[in-house]
Amino acid sequence: MGNKIVMKTPLVEMDGDEMTRILWSMIKEELLVPFIDLKTEYYDLGLKHRNETNDQVTIDSAEATKKYGVAVKCATITPNAARMKEYDLKEMWKSPNGTIRAALDGTVFRTPIVVKGIEPCVRNWEKPITLARHAYGDVYKNVEIKVPGAGKGYLVFEGEDGTVQKELIQDFKGAGILQGIHNTDKSITSFARSCFNYALDLKQDLWFATKDTISKKYDHNFKDIFQEIFDAEYKTKFEEAGITYFYTLIDDAVARVMKAKGGFIWACKNYDGDVMSDMVSSAFGSLAMMTSVLVSPAGVYEYEAAHGTVQRHYYKHLAGEETSTNSVATIFAWTGALRKRGELDGTPELCDFADRLEKATIATIESGRMTKDLALITSLKDVKVLNSQDFIKEIRKTLEA
Ligand code: NAP
Ligand code: MG
Repeated sequence: MGNKIVMKTPLVEMDGDEMTRILWSMIKEELLVPFIDLKTEYYDLGLKHRNETNDQVTIDSAEATKKYGVAVKCATITPNAARMKEYDLKEMWKSPNGTIRAALDGTVFRTPIVVKGIEPCVRNWEKPITLARHAYGDVYKNVEIKVPGAGKGYLVFEGEDGTVQKELIQDFKGAGILQGIHNTDKSITSFARSCFNYALDLKQDLWFATKDTISKKYDHNFKDIFQEIFDAEYKTKFEEAGITYFYTLIDDAVARVMKAKGGFIWACKNYDGDVMSDMVSSAFGSLAMMTSVLVSPAGVYEYEAAHGTVQRHYYKHLAGEETSTNSVATIFAWTGALRKRGELDGTPELCDFADRLEKATIATIESGRMTKDLALITSLKDVKVLNSQDFIKEIRKTLEA
């Protein structure tokens, strides 16, 4: 094949584990290398290599992402006790996603891939809803006390200058519970900027909601920071892009989301995002059809699939059995990264290719050729269930046609 698409700047490529690692090389071989003169800076985040490098490779890959601006990541194992044994690990290494998120100070945006024949449970959701979850603080960094009996619980702040603020939380008459949570203006500011930037990228409205009527200082601070940054830095840009920033109460937002058509970004506080992302993703059909991108306030992007390494399929694969693992979210991680690279480098051919590969992937499914997970939930008739490899080969045929 002649005339491959040329890349100016390399992508940071983060390889991963198990079944998704197998899909990763199939995707490259069948769908990327034949068409693109693929330039990547390769980091092997497979657990074996993370262990060999004492996890330095994860840190290096995050640093490279800051340098080049765009990364594509394969799913990786987050070690637990069973993995310690299985991989004979020196330590229970931290979640690579957590490490990368901390290094880039980013927000994760998750978007379902919508195809005809896989209908969302909520009938009026015509377009995808992208969920943005604040990934720092609140109940995830809480401090708790189980109150044994009568006594007073206080909230105390000691300033470095010696000033003290003290609030009585409750004068307990008997046993109970206490919880302290926090967030920082810095983290909320980063979250807000990431959301506004991503809304401009997608040219979609941004929704944000908290419970500021009840939490007049804590949640109100989120509302105020978003509004201040919007007014000072984004108002004009949003007007030019023809999009809006919409703030409401969280219960009102939930009610409106259920009645909406979709096609917007929903920014959520940490807990709301945890709960609502599972609701939205399962209502859209399948975790295997959900993309995920980490966007830093500095404008650095890391694309991946929302699902894990599909361990159960990997063991079947190792046993020589046929697998039917869905590669769509991993393909879209690549197309997302290639499109962003093309935008940043001013190479529209690369953006075009990403568009075509996504269209070919969707067209393949809509023509009735799909993996087993989708065949189980589709409303299409005459479905052909394909194995992992053949599904990717069918996408290539569609792409070349
Ligand atoms: P998982 O890999 O997401 O898979 C859970 C189940 O969901 C699979 O067994 C499969 O169901 C179905 N599934 C998920 N993705 C699929 C796909 N692409 N095609 C078809 N079916 C798919 O979650 P897990 O098994 O709980 O976790 C495995 C490993 O992934 C863990 O070590 C975890 O640490 C890691 N993980 C990594 C990330 C990440 O890197 N972002 C995220 C989550 C988990 P059936 O078996 O019923 O077919
Ligand atoms: Mg959760």
